[in-house]
Amino acid sequence: MNKKTIKDVDLSGKTVFIRVDFNVPIKDGEIEDDTRIQGAIPTIKYAIDHGAKVVLASHLGRPLKDKKKAEEKGTEFDPGKYSLKPVYEFLRSHSDLQLHSAAGEGVSPESGGVALGKAEIKNDAVFFVEDGVGEKVEEAVSRLQSGQVLLLENLRLHAGEEKNDAEFAQKLAKGIDVYVNDAFGTAHRAHASTEGITHFVETCVAGLLMEKELEFLGKALNNPERPFVAILGGAKVSDKIPVIESLIDRKVDKLLIGGAMAYTFFKAQGYTVGKSLVEDDMMPTALEIEEKAKAAGVELLLPTDHQVVDSYDPINSRKAIQIEFTNAGLVGLDIGPDTAARFANALKGAKTIVWNGPMGMFEEKPFDEGTIAIANAVAEATEKGATSIVGGGDSVAAVNQAGLADKISHISTGGGATLEFLAGDILPGVEALDNK
Ligand code: AMP
Repeated sequence: MNKKTIKDVDLSGKTVFIRVDFNVPIKDGEIEDDTRIQGAIPTIKYAIDHGAKVVLASHLGRPLKDKKKAEEKGTEFDPGKYSLKPVYEFLRSHSDLQLHSAAGEGVSPESGGVALGKAEIKNDAVFFVEDGVGEKVEEAVSRLQSGQVLLLENLRLHAGEEKNDAEFAQKLAKGIDVYVNDAFGTAHRAHASTEGITHFVETCVAGLLMEKELEFLGKALNNPERPFVAILGGAKVSDKIPVIESLIDRKVDKLLIGGAMAYTFFKAQGYTVGKSLVEDDMMPTALEIEEKAKAAGVELLLPTDHQVVDSYDPINSRKAIQIEFTNAGLVGLDIGPDTAARFANALKGAKTIVWNGPMGMFEEKPFDEGTIAIANAVAEATEKGATSIVGGGDSVAAVNQAGLADKISHISTGGGATLEFLAGDILPGVEALDNK
């Protein structure tokens, strides 16, 4: 990794802006899944432990886009849904987050900081300000003491955030000594808090979560241990063309394609796929991908069987059939057992595995079976020595659903960012950080 990290800079007494990903599901003011918050804790804790005054900033949903949509449709828009206040309550009330600091390292009442005893939980040193920029924020930032944490309100409530407006970015940077990006999932977007701000802060570095992402993904991209097997699934080929091409260029040893994506390949080959999801305009691309894989010596594996339902009786008609027996009335919703076994077999002996996208419509049981089988096979290969990386909301959800999260080497917090990184694109939020 050629980017500086939080470990490369002196944080003592410094005001440190950490761009985190607190874009968490919230229902009736309660956090439904705190994975992303937990993911940011090591960096926050590291900063506090090293005497920083911490400013946390994140986005939550897409308030301005949703507001515009609601106006167009004449439906109600509830701005309260986009407040990060529930995250603040969560940070304060969860003493298990251990937002405390061991004493020392430049933090003492004499040096202007607060005394932080070893066992002292400092969750009461977490504050919230109801805006992202402006006088109120500036005042709160200027009053921060070492070891304290200030969470800003959702940055996307300002149009300047997503527009990467320079004036807005400059306001975010006011009073900030060190910028830390720990939000890998938004690093593929050049927004004010991921890119613009770096033009106005002297020192810009990666957080610990960002560092972990870049190390795992960077190694898979540039120096994978082989055999290297990639598994791609999900609905659309179109979303994944750049990553497929990059994986072929980098001569992944095996490329396994499942999910609805596979039907575009089958239809292009002349098979009947019934009412299964197909992107007709991607059929020529699918054929090109197959040619490219062949020329590069990459083994491209498609399903041989699938779980189908009759479109007239989707509840009771589920059965596994060979792809070639699909007729016009059937819909394919998952890979079949033969395919799951073939894919699992292809993962045996792998040393690097990258997985993005479900093998079927996994949100609807029992069409999660294929995806869960792959999750198990990836976990098993990891136990036998593979480095496994799972990215994308659906595949990560499947791994969690199967209780296998701790059996995967790295669960990437990025969806689009992971795919863009693996496609070889330079992420603007990473590019903007200081080089080592
Ligand atoms: P993507 O966003 O392209 O990764 O696609 C994820 C979505 O693809 C999930 O919501 C799955 O339910 C859906 N999906 C995967 N396979 C199928 C399938 N065979 N038929 C319908 N939907 C599918």
